[in-house]
This record gives sequence, C-alpha cells and structure tokens, in this order.
Amino acid sequence: MTEKVTDLLHFFDEKQFQQDLIAWFKKEQRTLPWRENQDPYRVWVSEIMLQQTRVDTVIPYFERFMNLFPTVEALANADESDVLKAWEGLGYYSRARNLQSAVREVAETYNGIVPNNPKQISELKGVGPYTAGAILSIAYDIPQPAVDGNVMRVLSRIIGIWEDIAKPSARKTFEEVTRRIISDEDPSSFNQGMMELGAIVCTPRSPSCLLCPVQEHCRAFAEGSQEELPIKSKKKAPRPVPIAAIALENNEGKFLIRQRPEKGLLASLWEFPNVELTEGGLKENQLKHHLQDTYEINPKIEKELSSFNHIFSHLKWQLTVYKGSFIGHIDHEKVRTVSKNDLQQYAFPVAHQKIVNLILEGDETD
Ligand code: SF4
Repeated sequence: MTEKVTDLLHFFDEKQFQQDLIAWFKKEQRTLPWRENQDPYRVWVSEIMLQQTRVDTVIPYFERFMNLFPTVEALANADESDVLKAWEGLGYYSRARNLQSAVREVAETYNGIVPNNPKQISELKGVGPYTAGAILSIAYDIPQPAVDGNVMRVLSRIIGIWEDIAKPSARKTFEEVTRRIISDEDPSSFNQGMMELGAIVCTPRSPSCLLCPVQEHCRAFAEGSQEELPIKSKKKAPRPVPIAAIALENNEGKFLIRQRPEKGLLASLWEFPNVELTEGGLKENQLKHHLQDTYEINPKIEKELSSFNHIFSHLKWQLTVYKGSFIGHIDHEKVRTVSKNDLQQYAFPVAHQKIVNLILEGDETD
C-alpha cells in the first residue's frame, strides 16, 4: 500500500461503505440477462459487449449471441463469419475476434473451463485488467478490482481522488484503492454495486446525490465538488476522413461488395466499394477512377444517395454515398456481386449497413 492511498483512505470507513453499497445493490439492481446466474462464460461475453457500448444496446445482442453460442464449446467451434454476423452493428469488431480466439484457447487448454486464476485469465486474448477483475469477482467471488472509466468516476468522487483518469497511470491508484476497500465476503456484489452506482446514480453529469446510498461516505458530496470530479483531460478530436462510397448495381441487379483486409480497422468485414478522397478534384471522378483501377470495370455514377458521418475513437468517416451501375459480374473470394436479399448474409460495419438499408428500402430508386 503506497502512502498516497493510505492518506486518501485515512478517514474512510470501508466496512460500513461495503454494507451500504451491497445492501443497496441487492435491493435496487436492474434485471439484466447476464445477471441470471454466475456462469463465467456469460459474464465474460457480457463484459466484452459492454465495453464502449450502452446496456440497452447490448441486451438484444447478448440474448441473441447466447442463443447462437450458449457455451464455450459452441463459440469455439463456430465459424468466424457467423460470430461477426452476430456482432454486426455493435462495433469494435476486434472484440468479437479476440473473444472467439480466447474462448478457443479456453476450450483447448483449460478443458472448456474459464480459468479462475488471475495470471491465466489475464493471458487470454482481449482480456485486460478490467475484464479479468470482472470475471474473477462476479463469477468466482474472488476479491479483485474491476476498474473502468465508470468506476474511476465514482471512486474519484467518493474518495476525493484528483488524478487525471485519462492518464493510464491513474488506473493503478484506483486499483489500489479498490483492493483496499473491496468486500472479501461478497466481492461480486461489491464490484457490481460500484458499476451499478455509476450507471444509475453517480452518472457523469448531474449525479443523483440526494438519492445516493453511499452519500454519507462521499467526500465530493461533503465538499460540493461532485460536478468537478473526475478530472479528465480531453482526448484529441477524431481525424476527419472524407470518403466516397457506392451502391454499384450490375446488369443482373446484383451489388458489388468486397471484404476488408484481415488485419486493421474493421478487419474481415464486408463493405461497398469506397475511396478516401483527396483534396481537389470532383468526388465522382475520384470514385470513378478508383472503381476503374481497382475492379477493372467501367462504372456509371448515377446520383448521390445520402451523406452521413460515422465516428470511431480516432477517426471520423465523412461518407458521401452514390448509386451507380456497371455491366459485368465479379465472383472472387474477397470481391463479389450479390443480390439484394443475399446482402443480409454478410457482416457489414455500421456505416455500410446503412448503405444496405438504403438499398433494401429502395431509396436508391427514388
Ligand atoms: Fe456520486 Fe453524489 Fe453519491 Fe457521491 S454522493 S457517490 S457524487 S452520487
């Protein structure tokens, strides 16, 4: 225990805090599908889905995913394309790929049983300190910290920690604080209680302090600094990337799609032909040249269908979507022409799923 953390916790009554938090969590917790039991595989899948994604969005995905892949074996033996299809729309697709390869390792190395040992579980692909702590505590009742941005916000207010939570070094302080105050008797309810408190009471803006079950332990409330905490320096704004994309239909009424490379952003997902635009020059001309050079076709660009942005953590795609046509047929492993109905069998990233929807709704014929 470092001196800094000892100082921070000087007047903190951790036993009373644990009791108040856990009693509140047991009474007020939301009914969520991954809380039905303590199956470590279910906890694992839910925690991976919940990274960067809202609970309401995750619920239907989680239920569908569990129907398709109810066990470690089922997911280990599934085709990657089926897993990506089930993940379609959730974003951050490397999460799905890492989850499947880690689950395969669990099937092969640990006889299908998710390890309950901090070292082994942390070595699985895609399992960082937060996910490891969440699985160990929630599923196996092992008192390990599970510290994500929400828990850092809540703890920084309760304990009065003025460290910049955007800095990777801050996590160590929060983990150390958690190790000191976590309940040894019920670490599962303790960690879930902290997450629940962050989700429904101690929210990023306007925390509901008057309804808070741990208000009397909260330093920020006592000092009136709950709106100033946590300290979080701003990230750089995502870099804008202008892109022209096209729903390109051939003379058989089929659309040209291609599979993205196996590595990098949105790896292995399918997409419509598109090109990153450079400054100067008409968008349509740049797109046409790209199609001629890449697919060796002679396309006709007919009209603009739509334009919208899609934001990643580091990039902002500014898409302009066109409708066009060409004569010919392509059927390679990674570039194909497919019928409208068959488009739905491919996993597209969200931005390109919007183009599928434009096609299916028939907007392109308006
Ligand atoms: Fe958060 Fe307010 Fe509760 Fe403190 S009293 S933990 S700031 S909701």
